[in-house]
Amino acid sequence: MKIICIGRNYSDHVKEMGNSISKSPIFFLKPNSALLPKRNPFFIPNFSNEIHYEVELVYKIKKVGKSIDQSFSKNYYSEIGLGIDFTARDLQEECKKNGHPWEIAKSFDQSALVSENFMDLNSLNKLNFSLLKNGEIVQESNANKMIFNIDQIISYVSNYMTLKTGDLIFTGTPSGVGPIKIGDSLEGFINDKSMFKVNIK
Ligand code: MG
Repeated sequence: MKIICIGRNYSDHVKEMGNSISKSPIFFLKPNSALLPKRNPFFIPNFSNEIHYEVELVYKIKKVGKSIDQSFSKNYYSEIGLGIDFTARDLQEECKKNGHPWEIAKSFDQSALVSENFMDLNSLNKLNFSLLKNGEIVQESNANKMIFNIDQIISYVSNYMTLKTGDLIFTGTPSGVGPIKIGDSLEGFINDKSMFKVNIK
């Protein structure tokens, strides 16, 4: 399986990063080795001095598809979870400055936290999500604030690469991203339901 991550998909986050809104989705990949094993703490890697959390809604692909028309995207997913796209912001800034790819900043081991449980989208009539750091809300948004919605994302990405059963799509982060340090804890919610809790070590 692969993990597809969308960048710059909430305008408040685009603004806080000093970026501009793009005409089509921006995406990058994390390998399956980036998955943080279930219920493990997140260990701050030694190659970065600035790891940021980015909470994101995560959709699970349920069947193989290629060049999917947007009007059929709904046939390819039915479950949603929540994740963190851990980012080495210092390395990413360096990559951006040099025009290099982002892998060392985005795709390292443990950089993809994914909730253990996924929820049936039909059971949800709203998609609010939030992240608490040490018990205080640091990020809060709603799926309808995405610049490119999941149907557009699936259509766009599948034009370039085949989507396979079990692939995950991280759909971008709202504003409020920030650094973590040893001893912090992060808890993510979809609506009122706690989806994950992770300690930083
Ligand atoms: Mg992200």
